[in-house]
Amino acid sequence: MENFYPPTLKKLIKALSSLPGLGEKSAHRLALFLISKVSLCESLGDLLKELPQRVKLCRICRNFSEDDLCSICQDISRDPSQLCVVENPMNLLQIESAGIYKGYYYVLHYLLAPKEGFGHRELGIDDLIDLIKERSVREVILALSPTLAGEATSSYLATTLENYPVKVTKLACGLPMGMEIQFADYITLKRAFMGREVLKGGSYNG
Ligand SMILES: [Zn+2]
Repeated sequence: MENFYPPTLKKLIKALSSLPGLGEKSAHRLALFLISKVSLCESLGDLLKELPQRVKLCRICRNFSEDDLCSICQDISRDPSQLCVVENPMNLLQIESAGIYKGYYYVLHYLLAPKEGFGHRELGIDDLIDLIKERSVREVILALSPTLAGEATSSYLATTLENYPVKVTKLACGLPMGMEIQFADYITLKRAFMGREVLKGGSYNG
């Protein structure tokens, strides 16, 4: 049936179905919904065009920001002795909205997957180490999902930080193995935060 659709509509369905979490059927439904929404299409078009130019990564923590520094890095009332490492800005937002943490963050954007090309460099680990040194961070909290990739990333970071005088903890009890952080509710996340596990002590070599 889609063969009878005009080329632009077919192109839209194809583009939408390449989005994560949207199968061909949902993309199809979404495209048909958009056709009649003229002003929504126009504002979406403008936003999508502006997005790559306007939204970039914060120079310090790699959170999304329209300025050189994100609003969290600009907030000097936060505790510089703690640095929470998250996989993505969505996880950061979730921890922020739980109101359980007042330190700064570092966003990896990927979990370690060397075969897929996500390694030390892509995760920005050298910049993370520089930040820990510059800020004299005392505790690095690894708030990564307890999935296989999350655990591998946590243990890689703990090993990498072995020679630095910083305590490394990770979220522990409360989060079931295999659960992704974005699916955790507030109570579970709070428990995981409070019961974080020490991966290494705060001095050189543990
Ligand atoms: Zn920032």
